[in-house]
Amino acid sequence: MAAKRSTNSKTSGQATRQKSHGRKRKRLSKLPLPEPHLDPRYCCFKLRIGRSKIHRWGVFAAEWIPPNRKVIEYTGERINRREAKRRAEMSRGHYLFKLDAYWTVDGAAGGSGAEFINHSCDPNLYAKIVKGHILYMSKRYIAPGEELTVDYNFDPDVEVVPCRCGSPNCRGTINVLRSKPPRKSRR
Ligand SMILES: [Zn+2]
Repeated sequence: MAAKRSTNSKTSGQATRQKSHGRKRKRLSKLPLPEPHLDPRYCCFKLRIGRSKIHRWGVFAAEWIPPNRKVIEYTGERINRREAKRRAEMSRGHYLFKLDAYWTVDGAAGGSGAEFINHSCDPNLYAKIVKGHILYMSKRYIAPGEELTVDYNFDPDVEVVPCRCGSPNCRGTINVLRSKPPRKSRR
């Protein structure tokens, strides 16, 4: 996922990234970032982590995935709105996925590996929220070796993050575009 920042948070179908708290912060910031890994308990297909052309690490299919299937669950620490805001402002990698108006899931703590799935404007996954669980579902057939992607749908009103997903219909930013104001009548 492209450099995500601060106050961005994925609206229903998206995530943001952040980490660490209070006293531990200093110590953590000196440690190298942990090697990304997938938690097989939350993967419904064979997946692997590898270097991504989109951004750093990515998650790849290691077998065929049919459409409309649960591929992986996005897990992490469940935090409230205030804590999510605090972590977003601390800016250090963002793995925050906004579940609803109040709850956010921080993939930096207890993440299944789904937090490494990059954004694309033409994604092969979509997020579905079922009873408080964030499920990444396949939109279509996904071939072995294909990178998994999801549309983060960052809010248009937060800091704009440029997108380099490379899809022909790339909108240029990870943020969704503001809807155009209604046309004024000429009369
Ligand atoms: Zn794009």
